[in-house]
Order: sequence, then C-alpha cells, then structure tokens
Amino acid sequence: KSGFVALIGRPNVGKSTLLNQVIGQKVAIMSDVAQTTRNKIQGIYTTDEAQIVFIDTPGIHKPQTKLGDFMERSSLSALDEVDAILFVINATENKGAGDNFIIERLKKVHQPIYLIINKIDQVHPDRLLAIMDQYKDSLKWEQVLPISALQGNNVTEMLQELVKKL
Ligand code: GDP
Ligand code: MG
Repeated sequence: KSGFVALIGRPNVGKSTLLNQVIGQKVAIMSDVAQTTRNKIQGIYTTDEAQIVFIDTPGIHKPQTKLGDFMERSSLSALDEVDAILFVINATENKGAGDNFIIERLKKVHQPIYLIINKIDQVHPDRLLAIMDQYKDSLKWEQVLPISALQGNNVTEMLQELVKKL
C-alpha cells in the first residue's frame, strides 16, 4: 500500500511538528529528497505494510500578489493528485478567516479530507467539543481526528486510519 498525502493549514498550526512526529516514529527520509514541480515531498513514512509520502502544498492561503495567486492555483490543482488531504487546525484558536478561506478552496476538491485538530494537549475537553462543533458542517470530513503533534497523542491512530484508506 502506498499513497500521497497533502498537509495543509494556516501557519503555526503544527504541520511541521506533525511531520517530525510521524517521521520520528518510523524510518523515513527527511525533506529535500525530492521535488516535483508543484509539490515538495516533506517526508516518507514507511512500514512493512505501507508507505505514505507527505507533501507540502505551499500557498493555500489568501494570495496577496499575482505570484501568490498563481501559486495558489497550482497548489489547488496539485491537490487533485494526492490520495488524501490532512487539513490541520489549532484547537486553541477559533475558526477564522484564514481557515474559512482554505475551506472554500477545499470544497472544490474531491479527495478525502481529514480534519486534524492539533494541540489537544493545550485544551480542555469542553473546548475540543466546541471546536469540533465550529467545523463539523464546514466540509464533508472523511474523519475528524484530535491529536497532539508535539506529544504524539493519537498520531499512531491517525496513521493507521490513513493506511486503511490507501
Ligand atoms: P506549521 O507552521 O504549521 O508548520 O507549525 P509548526 O509545526 O512550526 O508549529 C508551530 C508551533 O506550534 C511550534 O512552536 C510548535 O512547537 C507548536 N506546536 C505544534 N504542535 C503542537 C502540539 O500538538 N501541542 C503544542 N502544545 N504545541 C504544538
Ligand atoms: Mg511548517
């Protein structure tokens, strides 16, 4: 089993931390190994059973310039080539304009989209329920998975769900 998974989300939600956690758990190749025209391979998670190539899709945020606009369109078409999308959010912050912008873009995408609610180590369970409520009707989520990328909570389970889907 193998596949490509795109990580998207606003800056500072914990995308890089999540990748480090994933890569740290299993033998994998870090960054810079390969570069396609539109996607940067950030890391490869490898087990006996599966290989997941994580890619970064830069530029899925509100474009400020013509170049940014071009990058945004390129990134969006790149999403058609992946097997799944992880939309990472920060549980400590309410859904904002930046998240809504990404959600609007994701409405045009046909791949399964997982809502990854990160930084759960920093929030009370009630807060987690509230943030789930803010997002639940925004998109047709494949799954909603609360994690702590920093501490590793639920990251193994997240990987298992992804592998199942490949
Ligand atoms: P990115 O911009 O989405 O790649 O975000 P980073 O991975 O660089 O993380 C931004 C900040 O959030 C860093 O200071 C991380 O240590 C912190 N961070 C990421 N994940 C978690 C988490 O699960 N819990 C906590 N408490 N902090 C986190
Ligand atoms: Mg990063």
